[in-house]
Amino acid sequence: MKHIGIFGGSFNPIHCGHVALAEEILRHTSLDEIWLMVSPHNPLKQQNDLLDDQKRLALAEKALQGHPHINVSDYEMHMPRPSYTWNLLEALTADFPGHVFSLIIGGDNWDLFNRWYRADDIRRKYPIIVYPRPGSTMVPADDDHACCHLTVVNAPLLDVSSTAIRARIQRGESIIGMVPDSIIADVERFYHQ
Ligand code: ATP
Repeated sequence: MKHIGIFGGSFNPIHCGHVALAEEILRHTSLDEIWLMVSPHNPLKQQNDLLDDQKRLALAEKALQGHPHINVSDYEMHMPRPSYTWNLLEALTADFPGHVFSLIIGGDNWDLFNRWYRADDIRRKYPIIVYPRPGSTMVPADDDHACCHLTVVNAPLLDVSSTAIRARIQRGESIIGMVPDSIIADVERFYHQ
């Protein structure tokens, strides 16, 4: 059995916080791999400045060269929309026999989790790995642990977000250190177009 952690997001663009977090989770769990699931859009998020799917995928792939246990996946892009996490996990489980899937989410999403489509079913069937995010209450209550297979990874937080990167590019400011060096030029070019 291969243990896979699904780390979803719009990755608009991928940044050093995502990469550092994924590596930290690999170090502190028994996951064999993390699949970075680049989502076509998030049903709970309004995103006007979303870079097109192929560009976000290309940036993630380039940024993760040299990270053999983190794979970029376009699987969700081929799912019917709106794509819900429950449907994604069920489809992956059916398509990849011999693989066990866990869901990786931030404390911000854990706080909202009850609003997710079929949240109870997800909790019952799939292990969940939660990591802290600023502004979230984060520490799951004891009841949370009782309801499901929950792992908390206290990964250090980098103060970087895709929103901040897009804003800096709009202002003509440097994004050195915020995204991996290998993609700086591509990110600047894509978001300027
Ligand atoms: P945006 O600023 O556009 O909302 P984001 O930087 O939060 O984007 P997402 O694409 O939403 O990035 O990232 C997917 C997941 O990565 C999110 O659910 C979030 O919890 C996590 N994440 C984002 N930034 C960081 C960070 N600096 N450290 C750890 N986790 C992060």
